[in-house]
Amino acid sequence: MTASEHAIATAEAYSAHNYHPLPVVVATAEGSWMTDVEGRRYLDLLAGYSALNFGHGNRRLIAAAKAQLERVTLTSRAFHHDRFADFCTKVAELCGMEMVLPMNTGAEAVETAVKTARKWGYRIKGVPDNMAKIVVAGNNFHGRTTTVISFSTDPEARADYGPYTPGFEIVPYGDLTAMEAALTENTVAVLLEPIQGEAGVLVPPPGYLPAVRRLTRERNILFMADEIQSGLGRTGRTFACEHEDVVPDVYILGKALGGGIVPVSAVVSSREVLGVFRPGEHGSTFGGNPLACAVALEVVDMLRTGEYQQRAAELGEHLHRELGALTGGDAVEAVRGRGLWAGVDISPAYGTGRAISERMMERGVLVKDTHGSTIRFAPPLVITKEDLDWGLDQLRAVLAG
Ligand SMILES: *Cc1c(COP(=O)(O)O)cnc(C)c1O
Repeated sequence: MTASEHAIATAEAYSAHNYHPLPVVVATAEGSWMTDVEGRRYLDLLAGYSALNFGHGNRRLIAAAKAQLERVTLTSRAFHHDRFADFCTKVAELCGMEMVLPMNTGAEAVETAVKTARKWGYRIKGVPDNMAKIVVAGNNFHGRTTTVISFSTDPEARADYGPYTPGFEIVPYGDLTAMEAALTENTVAVLLEPIQGEAGVLVPPPGYLPAVRRLTRERNILFMADEIQSGLGRTGRTFACEHEDVVPDVYILGKALGGGIVPVSAVVSSREVLGVFRPGEHGSTFGGNPLACAVALEVVDMLRTGEYQQRAAELGEHLHRELGALTGGDAVEAVRGRGLWAGVDISPAYGTGRAISERMMERGVLVKDTHGSTIRFAPPLVITKEDLDWGLDQLRAVLAG
């Protein structure tokens, strides 16, 4: 048995099977490349679902984390610490907002946004007790907690986890008429991914997000943008909402905010909205800890110059040009996305998304399928054009059989 086989068999025996990882056992990684326990190298075109926007082992981020590890790592929010104020002001500034509520994982940030919207609805908007509704889109992915899966439309994500949390209305993504019809006096928020990642990198029809913005503004409803995967440079802008000149009331951030080192998430909004919380009404032991703040501060600092966004825009244009050329043949049915982010629908005749991913892996490229026959590409934003081209060569070779 090889070291890889042993590690995989042991993981199979001792871990819950809530994932079906590709059969690769990573030992080290740097930039866009990962090396397995046998020393084989793989180009990472998934980047931890965008948690690794700045690549593996980014020197600036590692240095920031190391320096903080030597100072103080955790205080809990029982005490102030000297990175917290800086973290909150810099994250708020990046978002053009006023206040920040830090959490750890994306799902927790979504939960926090749901609680925020409800509290805002009761305290500020004047919705009658327990009547608040939040409108979400079909095929959404906002995380895995019981409340969040309560408004999922994915049977796999929901089955056997009921009873579900009430208070959510689901409308088809991109359908403005359905959205408008779903809004009532008791609607406190609309929660959307500006581009639906897990659904297969679905970009809504042009004009949809601005129209939702107009509707929500007219009716005093919060527009909450889940930018956990789409945000922080991935699409060629700091936020995916910017492509449509939309400014939401609430940004939900996660993934890349932790620099691929620690989980860091945040809800970012105005004083009117986040001002609803009083001590004891919400919290997290690790949320906003010194290590998380130090890493996230460095992330925000790196995003301030716009160079990563620029890179994602330029390389993204190249990626989409190359992938678009493949839609001429019969292997690729559709390509969607923005910036360094693409969902590629492979014709079922060429194999399942899983089978394509495994064949890519055999050629030294790591990607992940989503929903049957879609392959998702989300390389680290630091990838070189040469590496990206090599990765695309491997895709072409796999599809050529
Ligand atoms: C990944 C993701 C989440 C959940 O984040 P976790 O850190 O895995 O809890 C929520 N929303 C979107 C859009 C995501 O991509």
